[in-house]
Amino acid sequence: MNILVINSGSSSLKFQLFDSQSEEVLAKGVCERIGIDGIFNYKTNTGINMRESIPMENHTQAVHTLLNTLIDSERGIIKEFREIDVIGHRLVHGGEKFTGSVVITDDVIQAMTECNDLAPLHNPANLVGVDACRKLMPDTLMVGVFDTAFNQTMEPKAFLYGLPYRYYEKYKIRRYGFHGISHKYVSQRAAEFMKQDPRRVKTIVCHLGNGASISAVKYGKVIDNSMGFTPLEGLVMGTRCGDVDPGALEFLAKKENLDFQQIMQILNQESGVLGISKNYSSDFRELKDAEIKYNEKAALAREIFAYKVAKYVGSYAAAMNGVDNIVFTAGVGENDSDIRQEICDYLGFLGITIDEVKNREQKEAVKISDGTSKVNVLVIKTNEELEIAREAAAIAEPLLKSQS
Ligand code: ADP
Repeated sequence: MNILVINSGSSSLKFQLFDSQSEEVLAKGVCERIGIDGIFNYKTNTGINMRESIPMENHTQAVHTLLNTLIDSERGIIKEFREIDVIGHRLVHGGEKFTGSVVITDDVIQAMTECNDLAPLHNPANLVGVDACRKLMPDTLMVGVFDTAFNQTMEPKAFLYGLPYRYYEKYKIRRYGFHGISHKYVSQRAAEFMKQDPRRVKTIVCHLGNGASISAVKYGKVIDNSMGFTPLEGLVMGTRCGDVDPGALEFLAKKENLDFQQIMQILNQESGVLGISKNYSSDFRELKDAEIKYNEKAALAREIFAYKVAKYVGSYAAAMNGVDNIVFTAGVGENDSDIRQEICDYLGFLGITIDEVKNREQKEAVKISDGTSKVNVLVIKTNEELEIAREAAAIAEPLLKSQS
């Protein structure tokens, strides 16, 4: 089966075309600056690699561009649209309604639209992508894969805030956790790599990218995730603040005469390692370079980031009464060996020891703990698109078989 994976954001749309049997990526790309001017990036497994300005006024035009390129006689990788069996869409917020992936129907779109105020930045953009695909390929099966679904196994003790219960009942204010597609892929890949049964291991996944979250996956199910009602909670991130006392925000709002919108702008876009480093950078590579040149605030930002990750890892080891695997993934987790070492230095109490040579290896999957370590520490490249393709294939296969 050929599965097209779509990840639609507000002004960009990423796509990958998979052969589900071999899990090979046949083509992939990004439509950027949708609604502004339009840039189209496209690569195939046959060696085509292009970046072109193509006007894309809206998401429908972006989908049009990518589909027409896929069937183009020179650049294309398939002959006709019918060769795309399924489209898998990354959907950010499924609220409590969606605990797994689903076939996208009118009812699903209606239910997702009802979740829009839970994720006003992401869900509407996802739905625009779905809508564009449905317009152009109305007969193609579409599967929605939610970033919150894998976290839906959290129990009330983990997902409820210490707020009046009525606000959960009335508005579903609770912790949802995010990056579920990555946490699922990485925790399962770790068990596969270590030749373990995922239903028998306790894994902590540290997804450390520009957005960062940690999950505790016990016997294959998430019992906790550091992100909350929104992706603001938890770790200090590239530009997001992570955990903050709400009392400090009221104090700040009064002192600086700010409204909620302005406060949220500060928490989402001006905080994290960017804010701590006095706007030096949200990029960990630049912070490292600055640290080497004795930029104290850049060094402090990295130190706070690592300390917070270690605190969450410790608390999740407690929540699971032990841990077998700790896995680093995403941009920072996969590439920054110094941050990994710093984090693991805090974790000696768990019997963790790191092999410095292995820690510098760059592979799809590598065990960086040494032979004496009581916990396996791994670095695994996340692959959210492949996870979406797998979920879409699992749902589509029986349906398409029964139709043929
Ligand atoms: P997101 O998907 O949340 O945008 P990514 O997982 O792509 O984030 O991670 C992006 C971040 O990864 C960048 O902000 C950068 O700080 C970090 N990063 C990428 N490569 C390296 C590297 N070689 N060393 C340290 N950090 C890196």
